[in-house]
Amino acid sequence: MDFSPQHLMINVKKEGPGKLVKQTFPLRFGQYSEIRTPDFEFCFNLNGEIKSIRGLKSDWPHPAEQFKRTIGNDWVYYTVGDKSGDEGIISWMGEYYLPCLPYASNPVWEIKYFSNPVVMSALAEWSQLFANLYMANSKGLYPHARNLIQRILANDDQVLYERSQQLNKIIGSRVSVLPPDTRHVDYDIIPLTISDGCLYHCKFCCVKTDQKFQKRSKENIQEQIGALKDHFDANLVNYHSLFLGNHDALAAGEDLICFAAQAAYHVFGFRQRDERPFLYLFGSVGSFLGAGQDLFEQLNQLPYYTYINIGFESIDSKTLSQIGKPITVEQVKEAFDKMLEINDAFDRIEVTGNFIAGDKLSPEHDGSLARLLKHARVKNKSKGAIYLSPLKDSPKKRELLSRFYKIKEESHLPVFVYLIQRL
Ligand code: SF4
Repeated sequence: MDFSPQHLMINVKKEGPGKLVKQTFPLRFGQYSEIRTPDFEFCFNLNGEIKSIRGLKSDWPHPAEQFKRTIGNDWVYYTVGDKSGDEGIISWMGEYYLPCLPYASNPVWEIKYFSNPVVMSALAEWSQLFANLYMANSKGLYPHARNLIQRILANDDQVLYERSQQLNKIIGSRVSVLPPDTRHVDYDIIPLTISDGCLYHCKFCCVKTDQKFQKRSKENIQEQIGALKDHFDANLVNYHSLFLGNHDALAAGEDLICFAAQAAYHVFGFRQRDERPFLYLFGSVGSFLGAGQDLFEQLNQLPYYTYINIGFESIDSKTLSQIGKPITVEQVKEAFDKMLEINDAFDRIEVTGNFIAGDKLSPEHDGSLARLLKHARVKNKSKGAIYLSPLKDSPKKRELLSRFYKIKEESHLPVFVYLIQRL
């Protein structure tokens, strides 16, 4: 790689607000470092790992669009879409940005960002910057930023890849899907596996494993927490959200959930900053119906605000059998009512639910769901979001949006689209 000297504006220590708020322009949160070239802005976390790249020139698609690198080492392109304001992405994602994933998922709206050479040049510019920093370091340039440059150089693409593999090794496997509620922290969570597998092996599911449901031991959880602390290292201070994995952590029961949540809280040094830290987990209809009042009372006393996301999928029996979900409509209804009760009764717990969306489902699927949401009796209309998750093999995903708006319009609960995103 050539060394093309260019003036770099290096800001070793920047600090944005600690609390992530939703807004149209990408504000930077927490502590980070920034390097600007005339054309791009690069942000790094406190370990010196590249975090985001944003174009600064007028040919960049939009000043608020950017690439973000996840801790799973995926480069995700954040687009603002082609409609702004209340009609835009915010109306169906609940966020101002749509993360465009570099792997197959279930988006209702696909943006082919990779066919735009200006966008893709950002990744080439990152390689160029890395080469320039290497030369700058060997020539002793930018003395005030010497430590930062060396931290960045210690995290080349190979190291970043290896670190993502190391993370999977610590927790046992890659997190194949994150709860939709993690959008509230832009999917920046620390994963901790407290159980593997799930209670059902639904035919339609694209994220399941072959494993039978099994809890992890407390020793194993403690080992993970210690290894995760080392792994996240200096950048741990920028996290205040924990995801208890994997597909049905609720089935692990109150003792293990509370043990893991509390141990992680202390070791990771989560603090009650402007808001409580967040705890995320998935639950199934079976584990949710089986959970006693004690569990919710204990969760409500944890130093977190807890989101439990339940896979309801459908309230139509034909659809449930079509997708191979071994539960009944009665169980779904009972679990749905329980979700409303828990959300009313506990101020630090929010139960949310997923239903599928697709164009080859029984015609009763949409109608029965619309009726359920229209007649839901809720005290707090902003709590307990319902996520519609397009099936992966649905050919006309974009057309699902008009059906989504129809359901949303009459719903007494907030309704959003669920984008299946891995860590
Ligand atoms: S939908 Fe949930 S319960 Fe069913 S197989 Fe997938 S992860 Fe398991």
